Amino acid sequence: MQRRLFSSSIHLFKPFKVAIVGTGPAGFYTAHHLLNKSSRDKKIHLDFFEKLPAPFGLSRYGVAPDHPEVKNCEEFMTNLMSQFGSSGRHKVRFLGNVEIGKDVKLADLEKYYNAIVLAYGATSSDNSLQIPGEDLPGVISARQFVNWYNGQPDCYQKGNEYTPPPLDKIENVTIIGNGNVALDVARILLADPKSHWKPTDISVDAEDLLERSTVKNVRIVARRGILESAFSNKEIRELFELKDAKFLPVDANLLQGVSTKKLGRVDKRRVALLEKYNTSPSAKDQGKRTWTLDYLLSPVEFCADAKGQLASTKFVRNRAIDDPLLPGQVAPTDEFVSFDNQLVILSIGYKGTPIAGFEDLGIWFEKNKLHNKGGRILSQISEGENDVNSTYKKGWYTSGWIKNGPKGVIATTMMDSFDTAENILEDLTNGAFIEVDEDAADIMDSADLASSPVAETIVQWNNWEKLNAYELRKGKEMGKSRYKVCNKEEMLNISK
Ligand SMILES: Cc1cc2nc3c(=O)[nH]c(=O)nc-3n(C[C@H](O)[C@H](O)[C@H](O)COP(=O)(O)OP(=O)(O)OC[C@H]3O[C@@H](n4cnc5c(N)ncnc54)[C@H](O)[C@@H]3O)c2cc1C
Repeated sequence: MQRRLFSSSIHLFKPFKVAIVGTGPAGFYTAHHLLNKSSRDKKIHLDFFEKLPAPFGLSRYGVAPDHPEVKNCEEFMTNLMSQFGSSGRHKVRFLGNVEIGKDVKLADLEKYYNAIVLAYGATSSDNSLQIPGEDLPGVISARQFVNWYNGQPDCYQKGNEYTPPPLDKIENVTIIGNGNVALDVARILLADPKSHWKPTDISVDAEDLLERSTVKNVRIVARRGILESAFSNKEIRELFELKDAKFLPVDANLLQGVSTKKLGRVDKRRVALLEKYNTSPSAKDQGKRTWTLDYLLSPVEFCADAKGQLASTKFVRNRAIDDPLLPGQVAPTDEFVSFDNQLVILSIGYKGTPIAGFEDLGIWFEKNKLHNKGGRILSQISEGENDVNSTYKKGWYTSGWIKNGPKGVIATTMMDSFDTAENILEDLTNGAFIEVDEDAADIMDSADLASSPVAETIVQWNNWEKLNAYELRKGKEMGKSRYKVCNKEEMLNISK
């Protein structure tokens, strides 16, 4: 107890040092709460580490280019940097182009920081279906496709560029999964490139290819029923209202089956939307792209033609299980259907991966997320062969998609990040934090960073501001909201 009081009283004068790994919404909302809700007697020095040369995570590299209002959340981080950047009670720094686990060892953060928040998202990998043909070149993940149209630097690495699907040579696309990401992808394929996409911050490579696109039909296929659709009503309405594409009616039996049920408000609205737009094409729809919503189908095989190119997808038809204890669940029947398609986009979920060094620290990564309770990281203690126990790992926290698994919109990520921050503040008050050596250098002057090759290319906030100004200026000249620089070397050169 005495030690606790002692350490917390020291921190009345000494700043608490906090590292946040990742500058997506989870990172900056956690920081926002920490800096704005800490008691007046506390000073916080906070460093953001970001592996890319640009901040904002999925707000910049996930959110669809035609949803600029969603990206307003970025102002939270920009405001933090201008409010606390260099003066005042707290101090905040942005250290971009520094990948924790690669450029700086994870464990080394403990030498410099009283609290470390892992907010590095879950965008490094994809779920897979584990069915034959999944490795055909025409089967791609929504994550890769999104990265490409949003200009994510990993797709634009010189010498190792991602090859986008040949949209200028194909007609039929199947999207598997019907969440909001699937609908974003469908909009990319269906909306008019000139009037809809060009004015946005979509990558110019994507803009060019979409202008040459020969895609005619897009199917969005889900394994469960209408009421289990993963999309939000707002997103599906947007797709229905595209003037350049026509929705082809959904199976009338399916729709009738749900419209007679007693429904809650959201489902009622969903069914009403489907009914409203469930019309056959008319003369005014001639020449438009078409799209469908298919339900109760699970892919079982992606089939190739004689040249080894994806030609079709075989699905098994599912039936709803009539069991009140298993609401919304389905089981396969013995009926199969096949659809012609030259491209399949799998929108079945992102996947997080551990950072190098977890094992040494006892940090436990399982089922797509970090073991934690309320954002406090739990570390694994093995007791005997089969016994696994866990305990709080003092000073280590998590927020966002890597805390909860890759789900949830920015508003939920925000609320949840505030919870993590609240627990950090409680622990700081109670003296439950990592004790940092009094004489420890600032990480920026330390051998761990200053002598590493990455020291030459750290993007600080003023560097990012240069890149940001360049992108906005060039975008204006081109009639776009922003011209995104996608190649990392180019980003670094401009931000110097
Ligand atoms: C395609 C797509 C579209 C979406 N559209 C919407 C929408 O329209 N509206 C909405 O509300 N929500 C949307 N979301 C959800 C929203 O993006 C998430 O809720 C939110 O971004 C999660 O925040 P995060 O900070 O946990 O992760 P992220 O946003 O992924 O941020 C993680 C950050 O950590 C960095 N990082 C990773 N590893 C390291 C490392 N080792 N060292 C340093 N930095 C690292 C990453 O580069 C990234 O900047 C969308 C999601 C996707 C995938």
